[in-house]
Amino acid sequence: MENSHLGRRQFLQHSAVGVAGVAATGAAWGADSIAPSDNSARASVDVSTTVDVLVVGGGTAGTIAAIQAARAGATTLILERNSQLGGTMTTGGVAFPGLFDAWGKQIIAGIGWELVRETVELDGGTLPDFSRVPERHWHNQVSINPFLYALLAEEKCRKAAVQIAYYEFPDAVTPSAKGWQVDCVGFGTRRRVLCRQIIDCTGGAEVVGKLNLPRFREEETQPGSILFLLGQAHDPGRRRGAPLQQHGHRHYVHGADSSNSRTVTAANLSGRQALLEIIRQENARLMHLQPEVSFRESYRIHGETVITVDDYTAGRIFDDAVCYAFYPIDLHTRTGVRPEPLTTGTVATVPLSALIPKGSRNLLVAGRCVSSDRLANSALRVQAPCMAMGQAAGAAAALAAQADTTPGEVPFSDLVQLLEQHGAIVPRGERS
Ligand SMILES: Cc1cc2nc3c(=O)[nH]c(=O)nc-3n(C[C@H](O)[C@H](O)[C@H](O)COP(=O)(O)OP(=O)(O)OC[C@H]3O[C@@H](n4cnc5c(N)ncnc54)[C@H](O)[C@@H]3O)c2cc1C
Repeated sequence: MENSHLGRRQFLQHSAVGVAGVAATGAAWGADSIAPSDNSARASVDVSTTVDVLVVGGGTAGTIAAIQAARAGATTLILERNSQLGGTMTTGGVAFPGLFDAWGKQIIAGIGWELVRETVELDGGTLPDFSRVPERHWHNQVSINPFLYALLAEEKCRKAAVQIAYYEFPDAVTPSAKGWQVDCVGFGTRRRVLCRQIIDCTGGAEVVGKLNLPRFREEETQPGSILFLLGQAHDPGRRRGAPLQQHGHRHYVHGADSSNSRTVTAANLSGRQALLEIIRQENARLMHLQPEVSFRESYRIHGETVITVDDYTAGRIFDDAVCYAFYPIDLHTRTGVRPEPLTTGTVATVPLSALIPKGSRNLLVAGRCVSSDRLANSALRVQAPCMAMGQAAGAAAALAAQADTTPGEVPFSDLVQLLEQHGAIVPRGERS
């Protein structure tokens, strides 16, 4: 196992502006106005949107965060730079979320589980039996149809009145007296969003990076993967169940980096070129190919709490634990992966303070960029905890918006109550 704490090989990207810059306030804004004194900016805005909660990134965590915030009564907008919800689960093709259970019982439920369960049911599939402790940890991952998942996720957003903006991403993020002004771009669209709370669910904490708040990153990150399926006949459809988990192939894309359009382009080009070589070498037929590389690792935030591998493997129940997480330590390197399971009975937790960028206000993250050291992150990054973090962040942001405060100052008992009302499992037990 590698160095257990914040490793030598990782570095902290520090603020040029300073953390205080984010806590500082800018110009005040009214509920339905846009920067009235800034005529040049106004002229360049096609659409303005005022919401309580802005979720950036409609992937594994972000979809759940947005649905939770909206169900809790917050007006909510989700920005997704791609064309569908689900992120790595759908566009990346990693359609086998886990782990919702540990040691014979369910530990993660709520909105993520509702979506996964309904996807399996509508697809005529079978759910794992969580009362059984499987021989291998991944046996209880749930095979889902990613196409159906994306459709149901959209339907749930629509029913909760979440506004969806595809093909858009934030260009400039500026603090204001009541929250944030976020200038977004898409092709043919310039949108100004005024919001009280932002939840950064971009995977690589891109909003946190834009604000120059500190993030961790390794010199060499884990490879991404391009997922595909080889077979004997051209069949662009799918086999029943989860083809890429049960029969699929993946090729490591070393150096894959989700940080920006240039690095993502490079990863896609490299993954596809390698695949073409495989097809030629094996004289195989290509049956299925995901539209882009999926990324295991880029930036993690430096939060108010950093979850260490010791916290994770000891099953520490944080005072402000909002969800459980359960998966082996699972670090992929150039030589592959050797998962290291947790000891019998151990289940880790994620505190709200690991979703709060250090020194920030009105800002949360959820998903694989959770504040954690590298080894803890190699386990925390899997989909069920990402969904649970998304739900917790959505609930905290909605409560903060309603009380005109910041998520870290929301009474914790109110947060637990709201999460439980929406089906989430919040850790119980002796907190530390
Ligand atoms: C090859 C591979 C295999 C894996 N295997 C498993 C497994 O077996 N089981 C498991 O549970 N987990 C597995 N994982 C881990 C898991 O899939 C991911 O860690 C998790 O899905 C990440 O969720 P997320 O919400 O943080 O990010 P994502 O799901 O990647 O979502 C991020 C979203 O944000 C969008 N976005 C990014 N930047 C912007 C921006 N600036 N503006 C707007 N939108 C933006 C992206 O398009 C994306 O939709 C695997 C991961 C990989 C790569």
